[in-house]
Amino acid sequence: MSCIFCRIVAGEIPAEIVAREADAVAFLDVQPLADGHVLIVPRAHVPTIEELTPAGADALFRLVTRLAGPVREALGGEATTIGINNGEASGQTIPHVHVHIVPRRRGDGAGTIHTIFPRDVRQKLPQVGAAIRKALGSS
Ligand code: 5GP
Ligand code: ZN
Repeated sequence: MSCIFCRIVAGEIPAEIVAREADAVAFLDVQPLADGHVLIVPRAHVPTIEELTPAGADALFRLVTRLAGPVREALGGEATTIGINNGEASGQTIPHVHVHIVPRRRGDGAGTIHTIFPRDVRQKLPQVGAAIRKALGSS
């Protein structure tokens, strides 16, 4: 088994585990962006979010929901930023889907999700909406 997160889930390599559930596990990021930076992973090796089963998605996001408040409170945060790098081109470095929770406070110097992107918009909203509805198989 070469996946680092599978090995953490299996207890083969150490991690600071903060929650264990039947289908999802949460542990501290080894290179935290802030105190309390937590990663939540499904126990099953699933590379990206679109490959999760409905039950896998439920388990993963139930644990994210359960942890968001306690992670913030434990570190005296005022808010959290919650995000997923979904796919290698987005910057995902470990191909086992994981949700980051990072505690935030006013004036912490970090940006918002909007600051990740240099705005690059080429199509009108109705055109984009139609393309996504078509991909979804609805009209
Ligand atoms: P990504 O860039 O794929 O969204 O995030 C991967 C995260 O996993 C990074 O924040 C990185 O610090 C963390 N990470 C990488 N290797 C390990 C490890 O062996 N243990 C833990 N706890 N976190 C890791
Ligand atoms: Zn894995």
